[in-house]
Parts: sequence; C-alpha cells; structure tokens
Amino acid sequence: MLKIIIPSNIKILIKEQLISNGENEIGGTLLAEKIGNNSFKIKELTTQKRSGTKVFFVREWTIGLNRYFHNFFKRTNHEYSRFNYIGEWHSHPLFEVHPSQTDISTMNDLINFKIPDANFLILLIVKLDSNQEIEASVTCFLKNGYFENAELKWED
Ligand SMILES: [Zn+2]
Repeated sequence: MLKIIIPSNIKILIKEQLISNGENEIGGTLLAEKIGNNSFKIKELTTQKRSGTKVFFVREWTIGLNRYFHNFFKRTNHEYSRFNYIGEWHSHPLFEVHPSQTDISTMNDLINFKIPDANFLILLIVKLDSNQEIEASVTCFLKNGYFENAELKWED
C-alpha cells in the first residue's frame, strides 16, 4: 500500500485554505518527495479556487502552473524520480471525503491520457470536521482503472 506523509507545514496550509474558503471547494496539485519504496512526503501544494461547489473542478494546466512546476523541478535539481508531481487535492466541504464518481473518472483521465508518464497518481480529499480538525482520504489511481486507498500519515 502506498504511504503518503503530510508534514506539519503542509497541514497548516491545508487547514488555512479550508477555513478561509468555508463551503466553497478548493483544490490544486501536490508535489512530493519519494522517501522510500512506497513512501512519499508532500513537499508543496498549489491552490486554485474551484468554480462551482458541487461539480468536480477540472483544473486547467495554466501557464502559471507550468511555471510553478518548472521552478519546483529547478529547485530540486531535476531529480524527477525523487521530486515530482504526485497528484491532486481538493476539499469536500459539504460531503464525505470519498472520491465521487466524477472524481474517479477525472483521475482515470489524468493517469491514462493527460499525464501518461505517471505510473500512479493520488487524490487527497479533505474537509474540516465539527472540531475544525482535518478529515481526509487519499486514493491511489493506477493505469487500468484500478484504485485503492493509500495510507495517510500526518507529521507533528
Ligand atoms: Zn471530489
């Protein structure tokens, strides 16, 4: 099973985004460092407001985002096998943190067609519970339409 580690600085960022966006969905991309065979630590995330609250937001591969990725790869010395884009995150402020049918088909589209070089991609879904704590799920999507839960570990 894939293991995803989220360090405290990234957790703080996610929480801030969830608090400031209330019932509006928010999301973006995740950039990670490979730290073991099946372990990845989230290093950075990008955030983009989502249009509409109920429909999965299909993120545009904007020039700004490409520039951000380029900059990330430069900062990490183009060690793509160690530092790379690992997938997407978004919030379900009003729903369970499970991937919706639309989320599943969007991720399948990404892994099979939009980013064919990737062996897998993850989808992190987050929300705030009634105690303002983060509730989350991570799903790992593979090429053939297969997907499974990944293990999520929050670092203190
Ligand atoms: Zn969703």
